[in-house]
Amino acid sequence: MSTARTQTRAPGRVRAVTSLANPLVKDIRALAMKKFRDQQGAFVAEGLKLVIDALNLGWTIRTLVHAKAGRGNPAVEKAASRVVAAGGDVLEVSEKVLAAITRRDNPQMVVGVFTQQTRPLNQVRPADDEVWVALDRVRDPGNLGTVIRTVDAVGAKGVILVGDSTDPFAIETVRATMGSIFAVPVVRASTDAFLEWRRQFAGLVVGTHLKGAVDYRSVDYSGQPVLLVMGNEQQGLPDAITEACDRLVLIPQAGRADSLNLAVATGVMLFEIRRKALVMPEVER
Ligand code: SAM
Repeated sequence: MSTARTQTRAPGRVRAVTSLANPLVKDIRALAMKKFRDQQGAFVAEGLKLVIDALNLGWTIRTLVHAKAGRGNPAVEKAASRVVAAGGDVLEVSEKVLAAITRRDNPQMVVGVFTQQTRPLNQVRPADDEVWVALDRVRDPGNLGTVIRTVDAVGAKGVILVGDSTDPFAIETVRATMGSIFAVPVVRASTDAFLEWRRQFAGLVVGTHLKGAVDYRSVDYSGQPVLLVMGNEQQGLPDAITEACDRLVLIPQAGRADSLNLAVATGVMLFEIRRKALVMPEVER
């Protein structure tokens, strides 16, 4: 799913680090800033389960950082061995270093530094009844993370970030995805590239708009690829993207709120579009 190539790497190294001045720690802390994430092509994700899921999904881990307290924990040691075998490094650090890396007082015991992966737009060719979400200039990391998580939950295929968007690899975004950042392909595209790509999209392009004239529940989304297009938190969809939609739908509201939160509106839409595909799990009686 990625632009990163899988390569066989020499085994990594295990080190103990206690100082915030250590250059390896400084490099990881710098990933709190977008400039350094872009320069290094890397990002931080927190939590042992999430790191294991990412490894299982084939993401490249550069460094696994774990608290001293993780020594002797079979799950942490197993993950560390996997990381070293895959060519990543392992840092055993003090709680103070972990707190500085995650900027949290009570950090998780394990943090992973991964290579960023995005999918090029020209590799996105939705077929059958696949659903993709395009977000126009999404600003809020929490919204983006929640949308990625919801896309994963409903079995939609991926997210296209159109225009100048918040960073999908910011720690706040990654946190809000609850691990779905590793399962959902993310595409970045300029507005022009997106509009060009949309011209050959053979399916239904549904824009959500406060001036939409169609109730979102009255559209038949089945039997075709669907591209759901969501607007910016402050400005909604610009005219060029609005005009590129086949349908403009409204989620009717009662009460005094002008609009729904972007992530909530995306969730409402996705559960409707994927309604027939979502089945209740078997419950043992
Ligand atoms: N002031 C903005 C506007 O005029 O569009 C509000 C944007 S709203 C917070 C963010 C996005 O969520 C909208 O662009 C639209 O895609 C979607 N949205 C929110 N509430 C909606 C509703 N009731 N019906 C359809 N789309 C909605």
